[in-house]
Amino acid sequence: MSESANNQRRDFIKKTAKAGLAISTVAFIPESLFACTPAAHIATVNPFKTGFDQTPLPYNYNSLEPIIDATTMEIHYSKHAATYSKNLKEAALAEKIDMSKSLEDILPKISTYSAKMRNNAGGHYNHELFWKTMKPGVESKPSSSIVKALEKDFNSLESFKTQFSDAAKTRFGSGWAWLFLTPDKIMKIGSTPNQDNPLMDVSEIKGLPLMGLDVWEHAYYLKYQNRRPEYVENWWKLIDWEFVQKRYEASL
Ligand code: MN
Repeated sequence: MSESANNQRRDFIKKTAKAGLAISTVAFIPESLFACTPAAHIATVNPFKTGFDQTPLPYNYNSLEPIIDATTMEIHYSKHAATYSKNLKEAALAEKIDMSKSLEDILPKISTYSAKMRNNAGGHYNHELFWKTMKPGVESKPSSSIVKALEKDFNSLESFKTQFSDAAKTRFGSGWAWLFLTPDKIMKIGSTPNQDNPLMDVSEIKGLPLMGLDVWEHAYYLKYQNRRPEYVENWWKLIDWEFVQKRYEASL
């Protein structure tokens, strides 16, 4: 994040604190209030919107060890994901896309843009969500309310986990497994190839991603080599259930 973006963020947090607002309530302030904020700022003020710049990784590269090793995290965040953001901005400039908008505005009409835009808008959006879906430290447990919601749509928590893991393990080649909320507010599981995601008009599955698992080899190969199923099974211990639940509840 640039120095000026940092200053703006500090100013914003100060003002918010003065106004007596908890930072967690900021998500629900209408986006129009921030119409003039730089793209880099979008995700800072609204965790449910994605700007064009990378937001800082919310933990250290080695924080997810031993499940995801520090070298994988460093290369993944600072090389792979950084390149998606860089190429996304290049494409946006070339295709005259207003970068003060969020990617949530662009992805539903991605078919009207170039392949470079599709690959990198998806790549950037997916990774920004992926980092936030994980948390270091003690394994988080889903609350009874999110468990109840999952049971409604998947019969049981176990069946949800099995279906999600299967989607991740069986995605051929590179891609993502998703838990997503359909427009009629049903949670579903599916997978997409490459850097596509369920927000895109070109995707076979459609809805708002609640959590996504990266099954590109770059996400796990150093530690797990060809053992993608082992990576998928271990990944459950990293999920930030509070984040997934907040995303779900904010989208109902
Ligand atoms: Mn990746």
